[in-house]
Amino acid sequence: MSEEIKDEKVYSFSRINGFALAEKGEGCFYNWFKTYIEGDRGENNYFGEYGTLFHETIEKLMKNELFEWDIKNELNSKMKQFEFKPPFLAMGKSYVDSIHRFFTDGSYSEIFSQYQVLESEEKKIFKVGDILVTGFPDLVANHKKYGLVIADYKTAKKYEGDKLEHNIMQLYLYSIPIKEKYGKYPDYLIYIYPREKGKKEFAYPFEVKKLEKTKQWVIDTVKKIESHGDWTPRCVNVDGTKDFFACNLCNHRNNCEHRNDYTKNNFVF
Ligand code: SF4
Repeated sequence: MSEEIKDEKVYSFSRINGFALAEKGEGCFYNWFKTYIEGDRGENNYFGEYGTLFHETIEKLMKNELFEWDIKNELNSKMKQFEFKPPFLAMGKSYVDSIHRFFTDGSYSEIFSQYQVLESEEKKIFKVGDILVTGFPDLVANHKKYGLVIADYKTAKKYEGDKLEHNIMQLYLYSIPIKEKYGKYPDYLIYIYPREKGKKEFAYPFEVKKLEKTKQWVIDTVKKIESHGDWTPRCVNVDGTKDFFACNLCNHRNNCEHRNDYTKNNFVF
């Protein structure tokens, strides 16, 4: 995320989507402003550290820098070094169990034996209209069943319905540089959810009309971003001492001067 923050004119899916989430009331305009306009990325959180560990473990396995018999120790030792704690003890236990399960119940081997890897986490820079966009697709591969695919690892809960339709736009965006490089759009877009019990790999056929919808969403949202001037802090409207986003996800949660605004203004005790 660091490079995209430094350059105001290069957009990533996170940067565009962070603004869209703030609009929907699921994020914070002030947080977005501090992160992407002031370039202050604040601090990470438990979920960020966990996601990075998952990505790094896959990367090491693919490069033969880690072997299956060492995974358990590697995961335990890395998780001990986490700087951040999970919001609840039971939640942390479930996250720890699921990362071990993914690598030991055969899911990893079963899923990844189907992929002939073409590239992983390679930086892309491409254009949507006049807008410069950057991103790092987790995996581009030839899949034995699904052909050319872009795959993404998500340590969140499986996306369904509108959330899936919205979030998969990230993979549609990455299909633009993939077409430039490989001469064709992917046949399928794939999500791998290591924390799911049972089936963990879900493939969605690529549709050109969804790519067009994605491009329009990028153009419309960037237009809004560039004319936006109201960076209202979320914690003016929600109790920042209790709100899940403000307490656990916001990367400025521990140094934001607005965190207590709601309690100050509403006399919440
Ligand atoms: S602490 Fe609240 S107001 Fe401050 S940046 Fe985070 S969510 Fe926004």
